[in-house]
Amino acid sequence: MTNEMTAESRETIIRQRLQDSLRAAQEELSQIQQRLQDKGDYGPGTGDPLVVRWELNLARRDRVESRIEDLEHALERLEEGTYGVCESCGKPIDLGRLEALPQTELCIECARNAGEGMAA
Ligand SMILES: [Zn+2]
Repeated sequence: MTNEMTAESRETIIRQRLQDSLRAAQEELSQIQQRLQDKGDYGPGTGDPLVVRWELNLARRDRVESRIEDLEHALERLEEGTYGVCESCGKPIDLGRLEALPQTELCIECARNAGEGMAA
């Protein structure tokens, strides 16, 4: 399948995807924050399933917050025209990688060196 996409339309698609992901992440974050507020008064019982769930939500919130940061950063880079360039070595990032991981800032080699696990 060969689809000749111009750099511009590709940028539009990537921007759209980043904005969609950002919106989804922000929505998820506000849901998590809602749940975190419902902590209530569960008493001191450690290992209480409700407390455990609350802690899980805390961990999820941290993950979502860092995803939002990455997405916002990627959108900024898109505006600046530096999107798709590896922040570490300055080489262009492989398009397949950008499509799979639009908020990435590192080319596959630098990501591997940085131990980004999920690359491959
Ligand atoms: Zn690199």
